[in-house]
Amino acid sequence: MKKSITIGHLYPDLLNLYGDRGNIQCMMKRCQWRGIEARTIEYNLDDTIDFSELDIVLLGGGSDREQMLVCRKLQEIQKDFKAYVEDYGVVIAVCGGYQLLGNYYQTDQGRMEGLHLVDLYTEQQPGRLIDNIVLQSDLCEMPVVGFENHGGRTKIGGNKPFGKVLYGSGNDGESGYEGVVYKNVIGTYLHGPLLPKNPQICDYLIGKALERKYKEKISLEPLEDLEEEEANTYITKRFL
Ligand code: GLN
Repeated sequence: MKKSITIGHLYPDLLNLYGDRGNIQCMMKRCQWRGIEARTIEYNLDDTIDFSELDIVLLGGGSDREQMLVCRKLQEIQKDFKAYVEDYGVVIAVCGGYQLLGNYYQTDQGRMEGLHLVDLYTEQQPGRLIDNIVLQSDLCEMPVVGFENHGGRTKIGGNKPFGKVLYGSGNDGESGYEGVVYKNVIGTYLHGPLLPKNPQICDYLIGKALERKYKEKISLEPLEDLEEEEANTYITKRFL
């Protein structure tokens, strides 16, 4: 039987900085190239989300203003979203979306209530952390590369980070770590978009989603990733 996955893209009209939509394209293509059916459902603020039909959820990045609009809506879906995460639902949350996974995001303009899916918090500080970034992550062999631009500093407490910063700022510019991994959730500041330059992370997410859905060990057919590897190596060599 042909396998299939469904990706839920939350609020793409608001959370869409730096080509985060490219993450969707990448997940779809890497499934399709392997004969796995993939479809994406885009949700706007007024849409009802049925998490039981989703295998991967993408929350992209946004400006503080857009995050403020989204965060009110997120309170309404918090319970269902939390149940999905606790049941090992796969989530990739980038930058503004990553901040909203936590308990709160404090800015000059006020405090945005987070989703409380992962025990972390973010506070804005003067100066933005903007640069290319390179990480070493336990989730893949290749270095993880991307671009960060955030005013918020995120504290993840005892949670597992997504990676160790080899170049760039990461969560708060001082801990030496970037992002968070909780169950099948990855939260990260890396735009770029993240997945096309880091195909192993894309496959990690697809693999986790298929294992959860089909309740069997999945080993994804390797793809020829010459261009992706070249892009990744170019950035790594340039900054390390
Ligand atoms: N508005 C948030 C911040 O500045 C997130 C920005 C983003 O998603 N790039 O910290």
